[in-house]
Amino acid sequence: MKRTLALLDQSRAALETCGYCPKLCRAACPVSEAEPRDSLTPWGKMSLAWFAARGDVEPDRDLAATAWACTGCFSCREHCDHRNEVAHTLGAARAEFRALGLAPAASEAVIAGFEAQRHATAEALAALAREPGVQATADTALLVGCGYATRHPAQARSAIAVTTRLFGAVRLVDGCCGLPLLLAGDRAGFAQSLSRLSEQVRGAPRFVVLDPGCALVLAEHGAKTLVELAATRLDAFHRVPRLAEYPAVRWQDPCKLGRGLGIYDAPRQLLSRALGRAPEELARIRGEALCSGGGGLLPQTMPEVAARIAERRLDEHRQVGGGLLVTGCASSLESLQNRGVEVADLVSILDEASRPTDG
Ligand code: SF4
Ligand code: SF4
Repeated sequence: MKRTLALLDQSRAALETCGYCPKLCRAACPVSEAEPRDSLTPWGKMSLAWFAARGDVEPDRDLAATAWACTGCFSCREHCDHRNEVAHTLGAARAEFRALGLAPAASEAVIAGFEAQRHATAEALAALAREPGVQATADTALLVGCGYATRHPAQARSAIAVTTRLFGAVRLVDGCCGLPLLLAGDRAGFAQSLSRLSEQVRGAPRFVVLDPGCALVLAEHGAKTLVELAATRLDAFHRVPRLAEYPAVRWQDPCKLGRGLGIYDAPRQLLSRALGRAPEELARIRGEALCSGGGGLLPQTMPEVAARIAERRLDEHRQVGGGLLVTGCASSLESLQNRGVEVADLVSILDEASRPTDG
């Protein structure tokens, strides 16, 4: 008797829709663009998951690895007449393949290192708690996210400064939404982490989140991105004269903020305040924006492909004239920086643009 996977019942419509599709979103996927293989197109990844779920093929490590060949960029959904949720379905496939012992080693290492990462985040947050405006009893809860707290502390400090200028004192949320565990196929660990974090923010009058990846996971728990909240207070931001030194200042839409949360105008409005004019644009923007390769654990599981995706985004920036490239999520920042292009996070610019002026 064929062994079927629970995935078949949970995601049957999505799997069948892709399986019978003439690959209409083929060109939309950053992974199969960077590594041209049919099995890495959205159609290929979904079809292989479907065959395995139906019991038509016995999954092995190579087949399972295709479920991890996804940054979760939602680009295929934008090019799909059915708005098929490929990233979510491949996420469910990861959990099933992991239960069969077929997860990639690099993904398992994320789970094994999760507690150590949590510990590092708690230590980083303890240091950030000494920043002006942080009070343990404040009404406004601020989650900077593990990526910013541990790897981009300057940007985390800027988030604290901007949020306190806009809304008064903040308390820092010490927890992880569990997204790394979800992406690694550990659904139980993810649920536990999310539950612990949601307890911390239950009833908070305002729950501000810096990283759009965390905000997407926490949308049902009242999370709002700092960017969208800041855009409701545009008058709090002034021009930053030093930005005039760049030949261009270009916004790059992070996938989770743009296609994920539908926030396209807010960062452009805020950058316009800081520049005194509209920012320059990349060739592909908003729903059509190219991924920067930092999501979905791709930098861990397929680092060379992730690097090629980042280079493609940077090439696009160079081709339209270069200058300062501004992004707004920890994964994008990590993917794009240190590759010969000056990259800034929007929150650093907002910090400068909201500092009190002498006059
Ligand atoms: S996501 Fe949509 S367009 Fe892409 S393969 Fe699946 S059904 Fe076809
Ligand atoms: S969500 Fe992005 S990376 Fe994943 S299959 Fe779709 S286009 Fe490819």
